Amino acid sequence: MKKYQGIPASKGYAMGYAVIKQEANYTIEEGAGKGPKEELKRLAAAVECAKEQLVGLREKTAREAGEEAALVFDAHRMFLEDPEFMGEVREAVEGGQNAMAAIQSVAQGYIAIFSTMEDEYLRERAADIQDVSDRVLQNLSGKTKTLEIREPQRVVLAHDLTPSDTAGLEKDLVSAFVTEVGGRTSHTAIMARTLEIPAVVGVTGVLQEVQDGQRMLVDGVSGEVILDPDEAALSAFERAAAAYQKEQKALQSLRSVRTVSRDGKAIEVSGNIGKPADVDAVLAAGGEGIGLYRTEFLYMDRKQLPDEQEQFEAYKTVLEAMDGRPVIIRTLDIGGDKKLPYLPLPEEMNPFLGYRAIRLCLDRPDLFKVQLRALLRAGAYGKLRVMFPMISGLQEFKDAMALAQECREELKQEGITVGEDIQWGIMVEIPAAAVCARELAEHVDFFSIGTNDLIQYTLAADRMSEKVSYLYDPLHPAVLRLIQMTIDGAHACGKWVGMCGEMAGDERAIPKLLAMGLDEFSMSASSILAARSLILDHDAHAASC
Ligand code: PEP
Ligand code: MG
Repeated sequence: MKKYQGIPASKGYAMGYAVIKQEANYTIEEGAGKGPKEELKRLAAAVECAKEQLVGLREKTAREAGEEAALVFDAHRMFLEDPEFMGEVREAVEGGQNAMAAIQSVAQGYIAIFSTMEDEYLRERAADIQDVSDRVLQNLSGKTKTLEIREPQRVVLAHDLTPSDTAGLEKDLVSAFVTEVGGRTSHTAIMARTLEIPAVVGVTGVLQEVQDGQRMLVDGVSGEVILDPDEAALSAFERAAAAYQKEQKALQSLRSVRTVSRDGKAIEVSGNIGKPADVDAVLAAGGEGIGLYRTEFLYMDRKQLPDEQEQFEAYKTVLEAMDGRPVIIRTLDIGGDKKLPYLPLPEEMNPFLGYRAIRLCLDRPDLFKVQLRALLRAGAYGKLRVMFPMISGLQEFKDAMALAQECREELKQEGITVGEDIQWGIMVEIPAAAVCARELAEHVDFFSIGTNDLIQYTLAADRMSEKVSYLYDPLHPAVLRLIQMTIDGAHACGKWVGMCGEMAGDERAIPKLLAMGLDEFSMSASSILAARSLILDHDAHAASC
């Protein structure tokens, strides 16, 4: 028996037998191959073939895992249609490289850029470039990767799994995924959660030991992976799996239950999203609203700012899909860890304390007004709440509202319909805003506490640093007191308070936050049912910390 500890990426328990992904076995020669003319022809044929394969995979994935999971193959196809990328590959062939070497070297250049990006989501996109370029290389070489599964209860093991690998699999035969690399936003992790297959990623060195057909236990809750379990490990695992199943079944029955605390206070349990397609998962989990729509994803992964119409359509799609339930859309929160390739920002010593979020937006009304106009228009299609990120004082809120008012008047003059009952709030994620909550509450419609940042600023502990992660404690008394001040300040003015940082879905914190008076909890869709269950079992009576 051998135990490994990885990162739990998709919840659940699975016992199964290893099947190891073999890498494609081709070599990339140097030199001009058959000469530029012939190599360009081979390249064009391989790319065309890849695009057809991607259309097929897209359809299969949409059928088996839904539209959202299938979108990755549109992104792959767009990459092969990208004039910049393909132009560089063709130039390399014209310059004397064979087609395989050209695609490999250009793709590696792009992968190197993406893999050093600070944003985890963008960093993971390097894997997509690898996947799509591998596809073209395989087409050029005539050799394919093998990951065929014919028997049930298989645990798929790989250094990493690409969208193409997972899309090609017979899902009913797969009981778990285990990979040596990847984080919670890696493709394997996202796909496994969508398919509800347990997964553990980042299991370093596991491929050196494991052999095809070996028995394995995969614990997607704790991240433990066991090879060749002994009797004791097996029975402990079976007990944990049975308890988990029971708990899951009980949670599913709460999908359409309203969240009301044991002593009768109605609470909103909502979902956090990054793009319109994420709404499906929130609704499937019985979310009562969207508590945070991070609009910066609309601005990422592209070459220029999204225009008003594109933004309007994205916001309207979310509002309509939520069908009258509340939707909180956060205005652009760029800077800090999130950068845009087409919007150069000054190099700063402390970007988290620098030119970002509302500070940048107020400095660039040309850019901010496009978003405000799109929001005002979308407000006519549902229950919209808009919030500004990184507010440190009243003046910023007033300035943002003045711009919103200017946009409203312009739109009306242009004869364009705008939402009339939009609520306007702020994120409380800077300690100053929490301390001044009482004063701010007189002016805003609501607060949403952004604990991811509030904790890092309160404890001076970088949220990205593993070295100081021991200091990053959501339950630190200073953090709890700031949260209490925020809630009390809002309630004194008859305003409501939500929370959209990770802490809102933290099962250790939920009973405490409920008792402190929090009115709305917003979290990733997968945490909604467990949060609801806890709230149903606890009281919301006032308490202090
Ligand atoms: C937060 O800071 O808690 C938050 C929700 O915003 P983000 O994680 O996007 O900074
Ligand atoms: Mg934040």
